[in-house]
Parts: sequence; structure tokens; C-alpha cells
Amino acid sequence: MKEFTIAVLPGDGIGPEIVKQAVKVLDAVSEKFNVKLNYKYGLIGGAAIDETGVPFPDETKEIILSSDAVLLGAVGGPKWDNLPFEIRPERALLGMRKLLNAFANLRPAKLYDELIDASTLKPEVVKGVDIMVVRELTSGIYFGIPKGIFVDGDERVGINTLRYYEHEVERIARVAFEVARKRKKKVTSVDKANVLEATVLWREVVEKVHKEYEDVELNHMYVDNAAMQIIRWPKQFDVIVTTNMFGDILSDACAMLTGSLGMLPSASIGGKIGLYEPIHGSAPDIAGQNIANPIATINSAAMMFTYSFNMPEVEEAIDRAVRNVLAKGYRTKDIYSEGCKLVSTEEMGDLIAEEIKSM
Ligand code: NAD
Repeated sequence: MKEFTIAVLPGDGIGPEIVKQAVKVLDAVSEKFNVKLNYKYGLIGGAAIDETGVPFPDETKEIILSSDAVLLGAVGGPKWDNLPFEIRPERALLGMRKLLNAFANLRPAKLYDELIDASTLKPEVVKGVDIMVVRELTSGIYFGIPKGIFVDGDERVGINTLRYYEHEVERIARVAFEVARKRKKKVTSVDKANVLEATVLWREVVEKVHKEYEDVELNHMYVDNAAMQIIRWPKQFDVIVTTNMFGDILSDACAMLTGSLGMLPSASIGGKIGLYEPIHGSAPDIAGQNIANPIATINSAAMMFTYSFNMPEVEEAIDRAVRNVLAKGYRTKDIYSEGCKLVSTEEMGDLIAEEIKSM
């Protein structure tokens, strides 16, 4: 029997409510697929500040490092917003990415047919959209040195540096091609090679790596055109691979094609231990009301099986269960439309877990 240990970090706001539902689904998977899952719970974010004074305690680090993957809810909330920047809940996320060396951020944007009305775009444009954005996460302009605000003569100057080493581009390109092999075998590399030298190098290295993946189609697109194409005809994309900053922006644009924040998962991989979390935050405005949508977190747990446990059949099963529950008309408040059956966070978790057991 396969056995995996998952670090479970519920965090703040709706975090504990949605993570609880994902664990229900994991329990159902464990039964159905004969895989043993051990959970180690840890504190993170505001919850950790309240208990220990810091957002990312050593004990949580130890829990993570002795696990095979991390399932995170969300962190942050108004209670901690006035703390100094260095000990704010969100600092835990940076600390964790560094600890995990998670250089590749995978953000799927998939539109469920049942939720087609949630998109602000026309149904014929978004029906069937299924994009995976692979964003470089640990380098580029957010980390390049020199950075800061300096004095230059009689005025100040703000500086950030876009810097990519060949090995950094090579490893993210490899992730993108590998992911594409499990999908429709098409990669679009997004850069600004007409203006930025760092991305001239990016393009060259992506092409070099592509030689090892000739079964995958590759095209290049400038970021301004990519932004336009995502809105104009998103179905032309399968996998998009891009730099940290371009990925930050384009992945949010892709997410909004689907219109439902509560549905979208993410994975941060590259190191030994992968991190899986919904793309949304801790939603303090609805915390504790049992109305949050747990599907983004459930879908994040699903990605864990493909990218950390090499069991893609489990992700497929969870995806099918979610689709079936939606097809039966069940909706949490954020995705509710007339004629559907309104359910709570807990009920949605139960429905998906039961669906898996009965499949
Ligand atoms: P948010 O994503 O938490 O919420 C935005 C809106 O979407 C809110 O109206 C919220 O109710 C709704 N929403 C989000 N997730 C939902 C779900 N699962 N079901 C139903 N509705 C949902 O973003 P925000 O309000 O800008 O940030 C709130 C807090 O979360 C802040 O402290 C922020 O720093 C933090 N945050 C954390 C992460 C993270 O942990 N990775 C990411 C983003 C924001």
C-alpha cells in the first residue's frame, strides 16, 4: 500500500473550514484508492502569531520538512494588518516558498460547463477553456539585485532588476514541457524579447530545452499580445510558461476567465516537497459562516496526487466527482444561480467525498 504524509496548515479566516472539507475528500480517496494518508497539522499565519508570536514557527517548518506535501488553506486578516511587515501573516508564504525551493507555480484555469455563466466573457469564447499557467516563482524582477529606493543627486530613484540565470530558465521550461506532455502537448512561452535582454536569453534557453521535447509544440508570444489573446480567444492556449512578474499578472487574468475565485487551485513545485493551496485568500468577510466554497482547496489537494504522489488517476477522480456534484445542481453561495440547490461549505465537502466513495 502506498503511504504519504501531508502537512496540513489550515491558517486563518475561511482556511480551517475549507481545509476540513479537503481532508474529508482525502479520506474518501484513501479508502477508494487504497492509499494511506497521514496528516500532520501545523500553525501558520495569524493563527501562528497568536500562539507563538511569529507567522511561520520552527515547529511548522519541522512538520513540513518531515512530510511529502503541504496542503495550505490561506493566511491573513484584518486582526493582523497593523503588525510590522516582517511579522505579518503573509510573510509565512515567502518563508515557506524559500524553504521548499518551489520555483514553479502551476495555476490551472479550467472552466466547468456548469459554471459558464460565472464568466464575464461570452460562452462561446470561454466554453471548454483549460489553461495551465506555469509561472517562475523564485527569481526574476521580484528578487533581482540591485533593488530598492536610492538617492541619485537631488532626487530619488526606484530600482528593480530583471535577472534570469540559464539554469533557472532551463528548469522552469522543463517543468512546462513535462506538464504539457500530460495535457495537450502545447507550450506557449511568454516573454518581452523585443525589449528585454533577460527575456532574449529566456527565449533562447526555452528553445534549447525544447529540443528534448520535440513531441510538444512550442510557440513564443510577447506578453502584451498574450494578455490580449487570453481575453480574445483563450482556447488557443494549453500550457503558458513565463517569468515571475508576467506570470503573476497573466495567471490572474486566466483565473478571471472562469469567473469563480472559489474554484481555482494552485501547486508550487520544483523542490522535494510540493505546496498545494487555493489561489484565493482567507476571505475574512465570510469566515466562520459555513458558506465558503471549498472546491479550490479540494482541487489543490487533487493536484497533489499528480505532481507529488504520481497518482494522476486520483486527480481525475476528484475532478469527476466535483463535476458530478455540480451537474446535480449543488452550489455554494459564491457560484449559486437560480434553480440550483444552495449548500453550505460542510455540505459541499460531504457531497464530493460521498461522490468519490460511490464512483
Ligand atoms: P480573498 O481572496 O480572501 O477574498 C476576495 C473575495 O472573494 C472576498 O469577497 C471573499 O469573500 C471571496 N472569496 C474568496 N475565497 C472564497 C471562497 N473560497 N468561497 C467564497 N468566496 C470566496 O482576498 P482579499 O479579501 O483581498 O484578502 C483577504 C486576506 O487574505 C488578506 O489578509 C490577504 O492578505 C490574504 N490573502 C492570502 C492569500 C494566501 O494565503 N495565499 C492570498 C491572497 C490574499
